[in-house]
Amino acid sequence: MSEEEYTYLISSRDKTAAEYLFSLSSKRREEYYGKDVYIRGLIEFTNYCKNDCYYCGIRRSNKNVQRYRLDLDDILNCCEEGYSLGFRTFVLQGGEDPYFTDERMCGIISEIRKRYNDCAITLSIGEKRRESYQAYFDAGANRYLLRHETADHTHYSKLHPQELSLDNRKRCLYDLKEIGYQVGTGFMVGSPFQTAENLAKDMMFIKELQPSMAGIGPFITHKDTPFSDKPSGTLELTLFMLGLIRLTLPYALIPSTTALGTIAPNGRELGLKAGANVIMPNLSPVSVRKKYMLYDNKICTGEESAQCIQCLKNRVSSVGYEIVCSRGDVKKISDKR
Ligand code: SAH
Repeated sequence: MSEEEYTYLISSRDKTAAEYLFSLSSKRREEYYGKDVYIRGLIEFTNYCKNDCYYCGIRRSNKNVQRYRLDLDDILNCCEEGYSLGFRTFVLQGGEDPYFTDERMCGIISEIRKRYNDCAITLSIGEKRRESYQAYFDAGANRYLLRHETADHTHYSKLHPQELSLDNRKRCLYDLKEIGYQVGTGFMVGSPFQTAENLAKDMMFIKELQPSMAGIGPFITHKDTPFSDKPSGTLELTLFMLGLIRLTLPYALIPSTTALGTIAPNGRELGLKAGANVIMPNLSPVSVRKKYMLYDNKICTGEESAQCIQCLKNRVSSVGYEIVCSRGDVKKISDKR
């Protein structure tokens, strides 16, 4: 589809169109992944951040955040617990924290790689130099999540301070891909000032990049940010965009995000039905979970990891899907069943 066609489809969508879309998108997903849902253990290892993104609760200007960092032992404990619960992917996510130099990051990555050679290591630590990405890859990282956030320059500048640019974000994504990572990108749905044309551009960028993973979730207001008076994105539009992404990237790994589960009690189940096939439960120590508040009312911040996984297994099977414990690497176009 062209950018104009995406814009038309998004702006003229209705219930009938959405139901038809989900019937197509869930078929596509089953052609590649059947009923399987992969789990990724999310370790939120630092909430220090040098950036000041207007939407994000852990932006550097938010003085109400109690900052924390996990050390290597904390992180390895999370992995140990995760491994015994069946996780074979660990996602290290954090703010852009200068304390974690390349040397420290490589130390952490190689230690996890040494102990868990059958696991995938995913990083989500923002914009770095190409040499840094290469060093993490050489230390044993396999995947990288970096949402482009919005593919429109003007919109990008309304969500970020001027020292951040869409061009650099894209440069990072292409570097990561060239180095050999399985790359994930994505955007927030309903972020302030977003239009149907912006979303169409996001779809065109995703089509161009052909990422292995695409993460989208609703924007959710955070009370201590410049966007505290902006409304959150909707469940309805987020599901519609998930369906479109599945049709555009039939082979991709697409999470049903925590943000989706936050705006609606059954949001993640509906996400799976719209085409998602990944869930990312929180493996962070319970003591820090409430401090990694990207947005208000984030769910699953009080439970132990084991409770989270049991709850998710029930949720996933309630809509006819099944959690599997493999690494869950991306499929190739030719892997269609
Ligand atoms: N520092 C890393 C990780 C960011 S947190 C990076 O820059 O990539 C992961 C994602 O959370 C972000 O990419 C953003 O899309 C999302 N996020 C941040 N604030 C949010 C909010 N208020 N509502 C919904 N999602 C948000």
